[in-house]
Amino acid sequence: MCGIVAYTGDQPAKGILIEGLKRLEYRGYDSSGIFILDSPPYLARSVGKVAELERRVWNSAPDGVAGIAHTRWATHGKPSEANAHPHTDCGSKLFLVHNGIIENYQLLKKHLVETGHQFKSETDTEVLAHLVEACYQGNLQVAVQKALLQVQGTFGIAVMHLDHPHTIVVARRGSPIILGIGEKASLAASDVSALAQHTDQVVYLEDNEVACLEPGKFSIITLDNRSVSRGTTSLDWDIESMDRGSFPHYMLKEIFEQPEAVENALRGRVNHSEAVAKLGGLESVQERLLQARHLIIVSCGTSFYAGLFGRYIFETLTDMTVETELASEFRYRKLNLRQGTVVLAISQSGETADTLAALREAKRKGALVLGLVNVVGSTIARETHAGVYSHAGIEIGVASTKSFTSQLTILTLMALLIGRSRDLSYEEGHEIIRALEKVPDQIREILKQANHVRELAEKYCHADHFLFIGRKYQYPIALEGALKLKEIAYIHAEGYAAGEMKHGPIALIDPKFPTLALALEDGSYERVVSNIQEIRAREGQILAVTTERNTKLGNLVDDLIYIPETHEAVAPLLTVVPLQLLAYYCGVLLGRDVDKPRNLAKSVTVE
Ligand code: GLU
Repeated sequence: MCGIVAYTGDQPAKGILIEGLKRLEYRGYDSSGIFILDSPPYLARSVGKVAELERRVWNSAPDGVAGIAHTRWATHGKPSEANAHPHTDCGSKLFLVHNGIIENYQLLKKHLVETGHQFKSETDTEVLAHLVEACYQGNLQVAVQKALLQVQGTFGIAVMHLDHPHTIVVARRGSPIILGIGEKASLAASDVSALAQHTDQVVYLEDNEVACLEPGKFSIITLDNRSVSRGTTSLDWDIESMDRGSFPHYMLKEIFEQPEAVENALRGRVNHSEAVAKLGGLESVQERLLQARHLIIVSCGTSFYAGLFGRYIFETLTDMTVETELASEFRYRKLNLRQGTVVLAISQSGETADTLAALREAKRKGALVLGLVNVVGSTIARETHAGVYSHAGIEIGVASTKSFTSQLTILTLMALLIGRSRDLSYEEGHEIIRALEKVPDQIREILKQANHVRELAEKYCHADHFLFIGRKYQYPIALEGALKLKEIAYIHAEGYAAGEMKHGPIALIDPKFPTLALALEDGSYERVVSNIQEIRAREGQILAVTTERNTKLGNLVDDLIYIPETHEAVAPLLTVVPLQLLAYYCGVLLGRDVDKPRNLAKSVTVE
């Protein structure tokens, strides 16, 4: 969630650190802080936006060439200046920033207080500063290593000490830290977006590793004192993709990038002559995968809804039994995994804490564990046996949009790969491929209706509640549409399987409780129309998404959005787009901070 940036080199650190924090702003935070090593050392912390910290830094910070900075998402102690990071030791010689949670901090704190340490904040983090101080005997990397051996919980940390002006020690367990190594400078951050501007040579730190950074070089040891030799890898993100261009918000830009996101997800991954998918990342496990009969998809949030779509597409194209499960529940279940079970973890960031824990649990139980993630080299990508990258490009808006459509595309390709090795015919495979390949242009067509969706948002954005309904393939989209409206516009919205409406939610319907109905002319059409009739009979307003050329809905609903005709299984890639636009415009019209909605973080790295 929260972010870390660290720099040691030959340039003034302040601009680099502030710029890095801004790159991490999209992840959500409540306060921030910076330390610059100079004489005298400089420490500034503030509540609220990074711009506030920036103003202070430009007015007063020295030009020191090493420093660390942090955006905090409070877990222990309210957002306040005293609780913001960096935290210091008693002697104010050591400065430390931390992402994560120290679970045994109370016990550690009690012991430290008893031995004379004085605490200045309510955070769990501060124990780390005092613990490293207590372990310090001249070598910072060793002190950090010794301190962390006593710690339970999760951490990504960066530490500096006045005795070592050009050194930064970083470490991780369960919270990402990536090193960026340039010629005359070294950086570290919790997210590559803060590094990409400075270097494309990165090193992914693994759990329980402690790295020592000096300008242009680094060394790594593990907590149990093994030295690690690891080279750098090249980053494949270009910096331009991180700018908003002419779009007022990243979210809108990313909604409009979906044609390319789907093209990228498909690129080089379709074998037309055999009507099958080619997924290089799965080749190493192909034999086991093609024999598997049972698939469990684990994920959270929007990725969970992609997983629900996955269940339908795998069941349609393969003979597998498929379950979808929230990672936060799956990780604590007593798992009776059958022989040959495959567990697929879906996460945009590849760092989602619950999803990561779920996959570790499944791995421990002997399952073949696969990943579908966007961020190359992320923890989930590294810890799964094999996987597929969605290649959606960096997604900055907190609410996921293009990652979702990429995930749907890849789930379809995975199901096609397995299905074609079983009883899915060449013709059926081809039909899916043909439909997928039309999607980018079809999304472009839908995006041309953005103004129409904006007008609908003007009409509906003052509703206090909204119901979204759909059946089969459109059911996960109803859930995703409702989630987007909650996240972005803060409108209470419920997503329901249309058939479930009569079992409760219909009691809510009245003229002030509108419904968005996903009513495509597919196998479920007549049944969804019956549900629309039922809402109409209770004077509920209805906004429907339907297929072009469907003229039959006009007198049943209040408003319509049309999408091009496509295969039933591919339609979710299209229907989700107007729902994203609706949430976006409602959010804008209501004055919400759509790229950084309140209380939310881009990648949820705490449980
Ligand atoms: N648990 C720490 C705190 O509350 C770190 C939170 C974060 O990851 O930003 O200060």
